Amino acid sequence: MSVHWNYTIHAVSSQVENNLLIKERDGSLTITISSPEQTSLFYPDEAIFEPEALDFRLGKQLYHDFQSRGIKILTTPSHNRLLVTGADYCQRFHHAKRMVVVGVKRSLAPQPCHPSADYRLVLNTSCPAKCHYCYLAATLGERTYVRLYVNIDEILQSATRLIKKRAPEITTFEASSSSDPVAVEHLSGALRHTIELFGQETYGRLRVVTKSNNVSRLLDANHKDHTRFRFSINTEKIIEAYEEGTASLDQRLAAAVKVNAAGYPLGFIIAPLIIYEGWRADYATLLDKLKASLPQDATNDMTFELIMHRFTQRSRRLILQRFPETTLAMDTKDRVHKGFGKYVYEPRKAQQLEETLRAYIAERFPGAQVEYFT
Ligand code: SF4
Repeated sequence: MSVHWNYTIHAVSSQVENNLLIKERDGSLTITISSPEQTSLFYPDEAIFEPEALDFRLGKQLYHDFQSRGIKILTTPSHNRLLVTGADYCQRFHHAKRMVVVGVKRSLAPQPCHPSADYRLVLNTSCPAKCHYCYLAATLGERTYVRLYVNIDEILQSATRLIKKRAPEITTFEASSSSDPVAVEHLSGALRHTIELFGQETYGRLRVVTKSNNVSRLLDANHKDHTRFRFSINTEKIIEAYEEGTASLDQRLAAAVKVNAAGYPLGFIIAPLIIYEGWRADYATLLDKLKASLPQDATNDMTFELIMHRFTQRSRRLILQRFPETTLAMDTKDRVHKGFGKYVYEPRKAQQLEETLRAYIAERFPGAQVEYFT
């Protein structure tokens, strides 16, 4: 017998709404209000619109949403030519992180994204957090404000054309190559739309990675197992020292449990792997905690990606300008040049990291797959 439920929710606070999950299965209705640990959702101080963005439904929606929240609204002829004000680079960086720019993405051809996927899928750029070692430091330069693209359908059409061209080969897309899309999902809803579209693509797969626990809007999306949801994690010492404005480790693990319960394939990126006094014990503790947090069935099809810390001379300079007090070790004398300007741990230390992490994972998660170490 099938049962149809009609329900209306009246007058819940945004805090409750953000943590509400309603599921119907086998004739019973489950209403879950998850822990109130949700990281406070990001809203900017200023929203800057390209006039053309208002020709799109999402552009109009964002405009009305920001306006109703009393957020200052400005316009710019092009998001690429926006000048952020501030007395010095550090001030401009922190100012930019409180801004959202709403624009139209013009270059639509998908770019490669190795090793995490075949291609990048860029729905937005940057994020509200301030990780000292943000992998976008050098590419974004001064454009560290959140950019929300409104021509999502055009971006997705470009991806689906490529999927069809490559079929029956499976084509994977990385939704987090230029941003943390989960951290801004409450603003645009673009990720949920994308997840559902990939659910309909026989030969397309989506990959998402986040340091946010803002997952509630994605839990009942019709993903059809075509989106692998990964959480970027690290030792608590590293998260506290270098990942400002992200969800705590406990919050990320609680979100991972919800994502797993929603049926998404699950994964973890441990990055950046950093050698410091006590690193072995701390990474063992991290993986113990992960194992204790997850139900047994979550670990059967789980993936890990391992990325050791790296920097370039340019990213080092930017990090020191943004975070003059950072304790992040970036001495080129302790690293080797890997090519393309990147400095990584010398081979003996890199091997220690790789062997240690692989062994820890194999002991605790024998069914999991380590996709790569780099
Ligand atoms: Fe960069 Fe990701 Fe940290 Fe955001 S969460 S600052 S995108 S590393």
